[in-house]
Amino acid sequence: MKSFGYAAQTKTSPLTPFHFDRREPGPTDVVVAIDYCGICHSDIHQVRDEWGGSMYPMVPGHEIVGHVTAVGASVTKFKPGDLAGVGVTVETCMACENCKAGAEPYCTKGMVGTYNAKTYEGDITYGGYADNIVAPEHYVHTISPKLDLAAVAPLLCAGITTYSPLRHWGVGPNKKVGVVGLGGLGHMGLKFAHSMGAHVVQFTTSENKIEDAKKLGADEVVISKDAAAMAKHASSFDFILDCVSAPHDINAYLGLLRLDGALCLVGLPDQPVATSPFALVTNRRSLSGSMIGGMKETQDMLDYCAEKNIVSEIELIGYDRLEEAYTRVVKGDVKYRFVLDGKTLNA
Ligand code: NAP
Ligand code: ZN
Repeated sequence: MKSFGYAAQTKTSPLTPFHFDRREPGPTDVVVAIDYCGICHSDIHQVRDEWGGSMYPMVPGHEIVGHVTAVGASVTKFKPGDLAGVGVTVETCMACENCKAGAEPYCTKGMVGTYNAKTYEGDITYGGYADNIVAPEHYVHTISPKLDLAAVAPLLCAGITTYSPLRHWGVGPNKKVGVVGLGGLGHMGLKFAHSMGAHVVQFTTSENKIEDAKKLGADEVVISKDAAAMAKHASSFDFILDCVSAPHDINAYLGLLRLDGALCLVGLPDQPVATSPFALVTNRRSLSGSMIGGMKETQDMLDYCAEKNIVSEIELIGYDRLEEAYTRVVKGDVKYRFVLDGKTLNA
């Protein structure tokens, strides 16, 4: 199937228009015409090969929403014209215990990413900075028409990546929860934790985000460089979600956890994390991580958002502003997610 999008040809070249082929849709596949695609910091890490192993040409993008244009013979969930979303995962073994438990990102055979990955058959996957995508029905999600479609796009990665650990660690009323970093993931973590009834403290390095953080649901905002403000929260948090994209001192946050408190990393800086064992043994603290979320959980999250009227705060841009957007994301200068408008993609 013919596709057109934007690709990086090397780790240092700008993204440029790119014609490519996708597989012809099979019986279980859904073809989605892409209306909007979010820009995740993971796109930038991978385009620039910050995690190693990047494959080029690379068409990034795993926050995909659009409408269905064709379905395979055995597809039951979708028909042409339906709204649909595709996130970070497009293939898993469906047979291991993790897949069977609905934890597809932890598939023991390895999950296949929407781009910069190889399918089990050995084909390279291409993502959502493009006019269309083909994915098996299992990895395509139903989208409510009630929500602003462009602002739904980031839910497919930033949304589920923050929703999943908040649910896993039982965030709710009477829990004190911290969110570190007010970016694409962080602002969704903040909205979700607030909507779940927790007392939420937003940590940020950016003074110009304080007012926004309060509007998005923060009960308190702490400038993380302010040691005195940090010290006031020592040993008081049940759970902290770290959404930071660059290396930073996590011991400062471990020290804020109460007895049996947990710090979960979702941010993926390219450097190892240094921890003090003393910060962990004190209060029997846990340090953990979490990767996106399962397929059923992603649908649950989208349904929860439709019910609670939750979407991402976005800056909608044309493909002509892709490079500018990357530069601004790296500087932490986005409120709070860039979304590419498919209408500006002209083959
Ligand atoms: P983003 O929009 O760029 O947000 C990152 C935020 O981190 C910034 O807004 C900034 O917040 C803070 N920050 C940036 N540089 C910092 C520094 N040097 N020191 C302290 N804070 C800093 O990125 P994103 O799209 O939300 O992604 C965040 C991270 O999650 C990325 O590493 C991404 O690859 C990863 N990710 C992981 C998963 C997963 O499954 N685990 C899924 C998606 C993304 P303030 O201005 O508020 O300080
Ligand atoms: Zn992402």
